[in-house]
Amino acid sequence: MAPPAKEDPKPSNFLRTIIERDLAAGVHQGRPWGGSPGDAAHHAAGAVDPARIRTRFPPEPNGYLHVGHAKSICLNFGFAQDYGGVCHLRFDDTNPEKEEQEYVDAIIEMVHWLGFDWTAHGHSHLYFASNYFDFMYRAAEALIGAGLAYVDEQSAEQMRSSRGDFNTPGTPSPFRGRTPAENLARFREMRDGLHADGAMVLRAKIDMASPNINLRDPALYRIKRATHHNTGDRWCIYPMYTYAHPIEDALERVTHSFCTLEFEDQRPFYDWLLENLTTLGLLSQPLPRQYEFGRLNLTSVMTSKRKLKSMVDEGIVQGWDDPRMPTLAGMRRRGYTPESIRKMAADTGASKTNIWVDYSVLDIALREDQEAKAARAMAVLDPLPLKLLNWAEVFGAAAHREPCQAPAHPQHPELGQRRFELGPDLWIERDDFAEVPAKGFFRLFPGNKVRLKYGVVIECQGCEKDAGGAVTAVLATVLPDTRSGTPGADSVKVKGTITWVAAHDALAAEVRLFERLFATDQPEEGGRDFRDNLNPHSRRVMQAWLEPSLATVAPDVRLQFERHGYFVADRVDHRPGRPVFNRITSLRDSRPR
Ligand code: ATP
Ligand code: MG
Repeated sequence: MAPPAKEDPKPSNFLRTIIERDLAAGVHQGRPWGGSPGDAAHHAAGAVDPARIRTRFPPEPNGYLHVGHAKSICLNFGFAQDYGGVCHLRFDDTNPEKEEQEYVDAIIEMVHWLGFDWTAHGHSHLYFASNYFDFMYRAAEALIGAGLAYVDEQSAEQMRSSRGDFNTPGTPSPFRGRTPAENLARFREMRDGLHADGAMVLRAKIDMASPNINLRDPALYRIKRATHHNTGDRWCIYPMYTYAHPIEDALERVTHSFCTLEFEDQRPFYDWLLENLTTLGLLSQPLPRQYEFGRLNLTSVMTSKRKLKSMVDEGIVQGWDDPRMPTLAGMRRRGYTPESIRKMAADTGASKTNIWVDYSVLDIALREDQEAKAARAMAVLDPLPLKLLNWAEVFGAAAHREPCQAPAHPQHPELGQRRFELGPDLWIERDDFAEVPAKGFFRLFPGNKVRLKYGVVIECQGCEKDAGGAVTAVLATVLPDTRSGTPGADSVKVKGTITWVAAHDALAAEVRLFERLFATDQPEEGGRDFRDNLNPHSRRVMQAWLEPSLATVAPDVRLQFERHGYFVADRVDHRPGRPVFNRITSLRDSRPR
């Protein structure tokens, strides 16, 4: 897949400054790369790394990607593109209980959809942390041998209480003084399945009094009998994330390991581990360095995978790809383009604090992307019949149909014309008629004249109502010789133009309108449960009428419905003959604030 076309020049940010500084100083220049991930010896036997930098996007395959991940994907793959580097897609699959192949496949699909690829220099840089379990185990034995790790048989509760807190140093475990030989024997017993889950853990031996609690002998390995999606039942011990992640980066010779702020306190351990494994000869300099950036949060959006999963499981939404979901699958189905998501990521930069961005940045990016691309069409979403009473007199016969045309795109004549017909019975938007107009209302009300877009000028003569007083049809007359595009078109001045479709050739369609899932910007404001803060209007289904030119639109095609916004043919439910469209966003942000 071709890399996305170069977008606007990117503004600098502190992560770019770090990369540029390292490139200028030649920090990684000339280092060998073994052609695939591996230990010091493997890389030493390789040639000079053709990649100037290596970054990685390391999702845990325990759910679907969301808009926050898009930020990280765009940063990591984007930096690799911009600086002659390579970005690895690495599944951080060291936790057997929550990970599934289904998620692996979905993640691969969505990173591709966003426009990124991990094939470079003839190799696919798609990696699985679980393929490094052998090395991780070997590294653990090396640490034990060097007196840098020990097996602790305290209970989880004892370990927690002896860790101390911010004000109190921890107390050493009674098992901390064991010899390397004893520790090695125990660790091998752990590996060989001789102990129960949770009976003991392998811990780093660092400093129980460190002011950084992460350095108070963090756990490296635990016993867990669980079938792993990649390694099956081969292991009953699994590395902890904090131990595994630095090793993954180092084996892959990542140069810049970018992660979110919550990992800042882990950085000293990251460095401790990699430096010790280098001293032990398992890894080699230059080592990866970790840098933290602020998470991207969007207003009225929750990005925790766990909470998104509960929305799916509890039926609050209709699946991971519900168009209201902030998952990439949901955003794709909603109709957001990869370009718009990349633009949102670029526009929100990288900062040293977590940032909150108004959801409207996505809509603004989508409009910018689609304004010049999306073909136009007319659609009536909330239909009310309009009857043209003098049709037969003006056009000579009730059966007469008046051909009309409009450009597929106002700025792109090369896209040609849409053709449709005007007839005596039309559909118009219900709110384009008011029996008693409010001040400033210029559309249909008794006695007022409006233009039917691309058609004729009409004058409203009143309406029909049902027994309950509800308006069932609007009545109007045609003003002769006022056809758009004819010399008489400007003979009558009108203040309003309305969209319409003709009853005889309109296409029935289901149109789904979406609003934000939550009623307020912060779904969990004031500690409330997000379930109590749902927006009841987040999904509305309209039985709409569309102009006939849309009969052959394929799924995933985006259009601008004039006056209504940008829409996409639903990738799941849309069929020829049974059109289903999603509104991506309106033409402007009209949300009350
Ligand atoms: P969640 O809390 O939803 O499970 P996570 O961070 O645990 O998300 P991972 O699969 O571990 O999910 O994330 C992969 C990468 O995406 C990590 O490097 C993580 O820091 C990054 N990431 C996740 N959410 C955001 C966000 N909101 N903004 C920027 N980067 C993010
Ligand atoms: Mg995570």
